[in-house]
Amino acid sequence: MVERRNSVDAGLRQRAARVVPGGLWGHLNAARLPDGYPQFFAAAEGCRVRDVDGNEYVDMMCSWGPIVLGHRHPAVEAAVRRQLDLGNCMNGPGAVLVELSELLVGMIAHADWAMLQKNGTDATTTCVTLARAGTGRRKVLVARGSYHGSAPWCTPSVVGVTAEDRAHLVPFDYNDIASLEAAADAADGDLAAILVAAFRHDLARDQELPDPAFARRARAICDAADAALIVDDVRAGFRIDLGGSWEPVGVRPDLASWSKAIANGYPLAAVTGNDRFREAAQKIFVTGSFWCEAAPMAAAIATLTELREQDGIAGMVAMGTRLRAGLDRLAARHATPIRQTGPVQMPMVLFDDDPDFAKGDLFCATALRHGAYLHPRHTMFLSTAHREADIDRVLAAADAGFAAVRGMRR
Ligand SMILES: *Cc1c(COP(=O)(O)O)cnc(C)c1O
Repeated sequence: MVERRNSVDAGLRQRAARVVPGGLWGHLNAARLPDGYPQFFAAAEGCRVRDVDGNEYVDMMCSWGPIVLGHRHPAVEAAVRRQLDLGNCMNGPGAVLVELSELLVGMIAHADWAMLQKNGTDATTTCVTLARAGTGRRKVLVARGSYHGSAPWCTPSVVGVTAEDRAHLVPFDYNDIASLEAAADAADGDLAAILVAAFRHDLARDQELPDPAFARRARAICDAADAALIVDDVRAGFRIDLGGSWEPVGVRPDLASWSKAIANGYPLAAVTGNDRFREAAQKIFVTGSFWCEAAPMAAAIATLTELREQDGIAGMVAMGTRLRAGLDRLAARHATPIRQTGPVQMPMVLFDDDPDFAKGDLFCATALRHGAYLHPRHTMFLSTAHREADIDRVLAAADAGFAAVRGMRR
């Protein structure tokens, strides 16, 4: 086993604890990752990341989704440099805004138009505003446990949030038609939208692809009520189908939110919509100081073009299949049952009989020391930079992780 250094990371954490509340915010707070995980990184290339102490890992988180072509992909970096040499934050957008919007409208099946923003939360929030503006109604059906961002209306924490922030949300259970119908009934003539994740990727539970019958029912309810079907494609977008993650299901949304993988790590989000909501999109007021930055738009054009030209999704599926089969083999060999759920290119690995995630944490902490950066409870991500040798390195690290978990029982 490799000796891991962590003194630089520890020093930065100590300094951060004084000037950053909690040391870091949200999902990156150290308390949320197993012991031994580095918090600070020095460099990244392809599917490898190096922490500030010089330890290198095969990256199975891809920056929690954005890195879809691998870190510092040459075509993306060149596009960004070209744009930076011309200008990035100007009085208005560059030509790249129109070029990228045309690319999105041509690629995404339901899209007649696109609006470009910064974060996934911008996009999901705008979709909800648009649905209300376009229908003149208030109620939005949202699945219990689904993550749609960190604004008061949708953050998973209720600290600092008022009941009024969520007054017009009606809960249902993902893939449960009866609960969706009950929620629609409860909205009773005031239904603005059904907001649904591209697939069920809630924290710390098995992932679920959308049941086609459930997706069709959501579409039918929105059609009957002239409400908006919103698919939140922020996490899954551009890893399942370049036309939109519900294309394989055969259901098209009215509005969709995108971010994460759209620009291979550069800050960008998008809302796409159909003509039913074009007028509403013209009427609402949304903007941001940095929404017109040209370099991230250039990055997105390069990223999406590269994904299309190299059939990037097929490559991620192939490597994800190799990983899933290898983990199943190792789990059987170590007599340690696991559940792998959701799309292979967005893995979730949970251990049976692991209510407090002690097995998952030990598995990941051990794999980390053997050079694989995994997550015990969150969606992981493949990129097109992962090759067979990288997956095999992850499997070798996982082998050590399984051995540690097996040892817990002795
Ligand atoms: C990450 C995420 C968001 C929020 O995106 P941010 O860029 O973090 O604001 C919204 N929806 C889903 C499904 C996400 O995974």
